[in-house]
Amino acid sequence: MQRFFVPPSALTGQQVHFLPEQARQMSRVLRLRPGAEVWALDGSGQEWRVRLQSVTDGAAWGDVLEQRRVEAEPQRVRLTLYLGLTQREKFEWMLQKCTEAGASAFVPVLSARSLVQQVSEVEAKRERWQRILREAAEQSGRGCVPVLQPAQRLTAALPQCLAQHALTLLAWEGEHEQGLGAVLRAQAEKHPWPLQLAIWVGPEGGFAADEVQLARQVGVMPVSLGRRILRMETAALAVTLLALHYLEDDAA
Ligand code: SAM
Repeated sequence: MQRFFVPPSALTGQQVHFLPEQARQMSRVLRLRPGAEVWALDGSGQEWRVRLQSVTDGAAWGDVLEQRRVEAEPQRVRLTLYLGLTQREKFEWMLQKCTEAGASAFVPVLSARSLVQQVSEVEAKRERWQRILREAAEQSGRGCVPVLQPAQRLTAALPQCLAQHALTLLAWEGEHEQGLGAVLRAQAEKHPWPLQLAIWVGPEGGFAADEVQLARQVGVMPVSLGRRILRMETAALAVTLLALHYLEDDAA
């Protein structure tokens, strides 16, 4: 059954009024007719089963039949991914795949070796990237659309991380002692749910030595993802899947 994120204002009493572009998609693309059922989500982790009463090109509404919590939305971990800014297609691939895998927020990072060095380039894509997040959340059955935070410079964001997250890790191929899995397993028992977890993944050129040193200085733990060098998009998806596996799905 199709799923649509709607603004909280769309839910009035026992009716849901969908957005014009959603009505157009229902009418023209999905060819939904009155009597069909869809899920409406307000992004808070709840979903409403709705029987459509009216579907036209510009408007669609229906009656609420059932309300429930979205099972697929992570409850035990809120993962924020700090991702080195890179060329558009690769960054968008990471937004989509890591949303499917359960990430809750993304912070585009400008670092010494990130391919993109202008915040303006990021803000120009914000609307497009938020649409990618919403569509990936709808497709994967999430209850919330991940948040796209403003782009930040590594040197400014790293020191602030410890105050914003219960645990902050930095994926670094130069780390040979601490593995991500072992750290997550050890932390899984310690922290109250949901664990506010942040994981940094560097750009294609990696983190500069002074950036890793800054991480250690401010208390951010470097972790290894194994002895092989992963592409940044592989690493981003790997840390998301591992974090959700150890802290959510496996622990469920
Ligand atoms: N220095 C790397 C190289 O020699 O090709 C380039 C960085 S790698 C392509 C991109 C990012 O993925 C790194 O900054 C790191 O965050 C993460 N990464 C890749 N392999 C990793 C590993 N084995 N352990 C931890 N992090 C890794």
